[in-house]
Amino acid sequence: MRSRSTSASPAPCAAPNWTGRSVWGWQLPSLVVASTGVDPQQATLAVVWDFDSAQGQVAATFPYHFRSLPLRQELEAVAILKDEGARLGVPMTFATVGFAAEDVPEPFAAHGLLHDLHAAGHEVASHSWRHEWLPHLTTQQLRRSLVRSKVVLEHAAGEVGAVRGLVPPFNRPMSWLRHGIIRPGDRWAFPPGAAATIDGLLRTASGAGYEWIRLSIRPLISRGTDPLRAPFREGGITVVPHHCSGFDKRALALLDQAVERKAMLCVTGHPAGLFRPGNEHQDAVVGLLEQACRLRDQGKLRITTTAEAVLPHLPERSPA
Ligand SMILES: [Zn+2]
Repeated sequence: MRSRSTSASPAPCAAPNWTGRSVWGWQLPSLVVASTGVDPQQATLAVVWDFDSAQGQVAATFPYHFRSLPLRQELEAVAILKDEGARLGVPMTFATVGFAAEDVPEPFAAHGLLHDLHAAGHEVASHSWRHEWLPHLTTQQLRRSLVRSKVVLEHAAGEVGAVRGLVPPFNRPMSWLRHGIIRPGDRWAFPPGAAATIDGLLRTASGAGYEWIRLSIRPLISRGTDPLRAPFREGGITVVPHHCSGFDKRALALLDQAVERKAMLCVTGHPAGLFRPGNEHQDAVVGLLEQACRLRDQGKLRITTTAEAVLPHLPERSPA
């Protein structure tokens, strides 16, 4: 499952196609990506879990909202997802912080889970080293976070090179100056850090050995943009657009659309959400996965890890 398929025929990358729009006399760009899908022959579903771990949750939680219960619930939820994956034959991607793979006590540690996930055919990806707000890091801090998390997660997974993907915490940065996108919260003006904008993050992630990165791309004008933007190559790395958070009706509708158009759908969630009401609740997750399996069994959909899904967009590795 983790080995590179030799039968997949490389497809040309769907390059972003920019169309200018006039707003109050200004010509603004909006990102419209041709969505032919990853594999022109088959629709693809990739489920990406933002497995924050205890460290990630602490970093992402306002102190006055802190509760310890979700820290342990998340570990339980990942175990449930692993079991559901085995029951349904569904591989998924779990992006977690490197700190969870360090020599730390429970509930911060997740070594065993990460090893078991990888052994079961799931993909382990990086969610940075300690769930930092990447735009605020210096270039050196960013590089260390990306490299360190990759190394230590691969050690926990038990395979060098197993960690190929990066899921930036908080979906930051969102500013992409090259494409005319500026968002508050990114430190895109001063002082300049490598992750102040997406352009710099792509270069640094590629340099750290990552092959794909999930991005939340929010053009200034979202009307008319494709909800199923296809992955594309930029800055030496494959960009996987984030399509949908949660597993409710919207995700099911996008799944139908992906099947109809033979496109790739990237659905994301938080494992701790399995125990909360809402679109990440366990019932919604299982409902979407079972529907995806029905489509898979009809030959209309493949369900795979993100790395496998974007293989057609990656440059071929030279033989070792
Ligand atoms: Zn996170």
